[in-house]
Amino acid sequence: MSLVRKFIVSLLRLKEIFVVDYEFKIRDRALHLWVRPYKSGCLCPQCERRCTILHVCASPRMWRDMPVCGWSVFFCYHPKEIFCPTHGRIQERIPWAEPYARITYRFEYALLVYGQLMTQKATARLLHISASTLSDLLHQSITRLRDGHRIRGLTSIGMDEISYCKGHKYATIVYDLDRSCVVWVGQGKGRDTIDLFFQESLSPYQRDQILWAACDMSEAYIGAIQEHCRNATLVLDRFHIVKAINAALDEVRKEQWREASAQERKILKGLRWLLFKHSSTRSKNDSRILHALQRGNRRIYRAWLLKDEFEHFWDFKTQWAAERFLKRWTTAALRTRLEPMRKLANTVRKYSTQIISFVESRLTNAVAEGLNRIIKIVKNRASGFRTLDAFTDMIFLTVGDVDIPAQIPAEFRAL
Ligand SMILES: [Zn+2]
Repeated sequence: MSLVRKFIVSLLRLKEIFVVDYEFKIRDRALHLWVRPYKSGCLCPQCERRCTILHVCASPRMWRDMPVCGWSVFFCYHPKEIFCPTHGRIQERIPWAEPYARITYRFEYALLVYGQLMTQKATARLLHISASTLSDLLHQSITRLRDGHRIRGLTSIGMDEISYCKGHKYATIVYDLDRSCVVWVGQGKGRDTIDLFFQESLSPYQRDQILWAACDMSEAYIGAIQEHCRNATLVLDRFHIVKAINAALDEVRKEQWREASAQERKILKGLRWLLFKHSSTRSKNDSRILHALQRGNRRIYRAWLLKDEFEHFWDFKTQWAAERFLKRWTTAALRTRLEPMRKLANTVRKYSTQIISFVESRLTNAVAEGLNRIIKIVKNRASGFRTLDAFTDMIFLTVGDVDIPAQIPAEFRAL
């Protein structure tokens, strides 16, 4: 072997592969490497037995490899059809790529790792392919590597909705809260979507194995979990409850703002974010403003007081104390003449068992919220997704239950 060919083999770290010839295509900025997989004979892709050659493909096939110094690199080879005593007529094993793939394992690995780290546009540019080819390749690759994967050992689940496109297109995401990853993504946020998850992705045995479930106060989620998971304790998610209380409080504030005169509005100005603040992050000045509010606007102050009191709920250690607290809180809320607060109190009363189960379980969707943050970053990076498929691909690639790049054969996992 000439020195140059030896150099190329070492540089590209090609094991088991021989470079027969190379060719620089100046106009295409491409390096074509004519390669041969084995010293002698061809191997069956299924049993690795050395087999007899039946015929050699007339036209060469090309596989795209990682670009080097601005050159796109291609492997070229005439694959052979062989005869295996066990598996019959079959195409020989190609050590650098999946059967019938157009890219090498190494390229595929780069595609997946870059896809986790950066925008598809940037990935496409680094790998010398167009953005549309890239999304096709990603989809094929992720589908293949996740193929046959089953959900395993699921005991705590979380459910949440997320919008993936402008115009209110929603997807439901199911999380494994123990392993903090996404196990399922489905179109829509209604009951039928969730039923689909329980029926198609889990066996009856697996459904019975679920002991904890966290979700927000949506009828669809609660109903589905109660129906499908007999052994699960449902915990309404802390973040969503806090969010609902804040929303009710904001409703009261807006009402008062609409009715207020110019003079009164002076007191209400800049209240919005202050009202949402947790007591631990309140400054002295904040307390002063809230004090002034007590005299300035009783209604907002009362709503805020209810919200502030509810913070204590999360500290209870015993169920009976939490229950007593919740009863008092809802009664107090219902006594006010603040419609949003009364509405909320009724919902809280309705789901009080599920809210109180937090005390024992301490289960929250915090893990899910963390994952959601990553998903939102991915979404914003891509400035939204037109199809759910593309969105699902990216979710599974970044926070899925399978480490997708790790599915590529180890010797090709280098960047
Ligand atoms: Zn065979």
